[in-house]
Amino acid sequence: MKTEAILTCPKCGKKQEATMPTDACQHFYKCIHCGEMLKPKEGDCCVFCSYADIKCPPKQAEALQK
Ligand SMILES: [Zn+2]
Repeated sequence: MKTEAILTCPKCGKKQEATMPTDACQHFYKCIHCGEMLKPKEGDCCVFCSYADIKCPPKQAEALQK
C-alpha cells in the first residue's frame, strides 16, 4: 500500500509530497506553497482522493478487495 502521495493544490496548481495516514481519512491539508486549506470535494472521503495522484489507504484497500 502506498502512503506517499503527490497532492496538487487546486488554487496555485503546485505539487507537494504528503504522507497519508493509513488508519484514517485526512480531511484537511494546508498547501505549503500558498497556504490554502484544502478540503475534500463533494463525494470524496478525503483530500487525497480529491487532489492527490493516488487514492487514500482505505480506498486502496477497498480496491484490492474487489
Ligand atoms: Zn496552493
